[in-house]
Amino acid sequence: MFLTFEGMEGCGKSTQCKKLIEHFVRQGHDVLHTLEPGGSRLGKELRRILLDPKNSDLSSTSELFLYLADRAQHVSSVIRPAMEDGRTVICDRFADSTVVYQGYGRGLDPSLLHHLNDVAVQGLWPDMTILLDVEPEIGLKRALTRNMLDNKTATEGRFEAESMAFHTRIREGYLTWAALHRGRFLVVDAGRNPDAVFESILRGLEEKGLG
Ligand code: C5P
Repeated sequence: MFLTFEGMEGCGKSTQCKKLIEHFVRQGHDVLHTLEPGGSRLGKELRRILLDPKNSDLSSTSELFLYLADRAQHVSSVIRPAMEDGRTVICDRFADSTVVYQGYGRGLDPSLLHHLNDVAVQGLWPDMTILLDVEPEIGLKRALTRNMLDNKTATEGRFEAESMAFHTRIREGYLTWAALHRGRFLVVDAGRNPDAVFESILRGLEEKGLG
């Protein structure tokens, strides 16, 4: 089984990923927890480049191809081998992040990005994508608090410096894209407490026969 988490900054992806992994491990699954950008050896290098504020002059198109390279390598060297070994793969961000951030966020054509994603994923689309939907104000507040608590460097902070208009486009882009791919997406109201959010995720998984 291949599950992905999506959502804007501060939506609670890390917390919910952790809860879901614990749940599946208790059920006896062999779980691989991975992420994008940065899930492969090459990807780690690409993540550093992509999130470095010094590279904020990257054009939208060159940024796009770095994300796609990250994904293609991640699928072929990490995700597909894990699936072939019968593992359950839980990935924090995947192809939909490209459609939403580079498409709805930065103005590239979402349907073109979908085609390019199709090349990058090499037929391996998730069984289900969990979108943690949260209002931009709440998400950003959480992300900023988390960064302060973690004492994160500016490198990891590049995207929180984007305008509120950008984050609003991201939130709305996710909802639009999820509505277009209803069969694969589970949209969860992530403005609530983590246990209530997790309950909704478990219910959604059960309803789709993946619980
Ligand atoms: O999930 P995480 O917060 O670690 O992702 C790192 C950052 O990369 C995010 O803040 C997001 O804004 C950005 N990103 C992006 N385009 C993607 C994937 C992630 O701009 N395709």
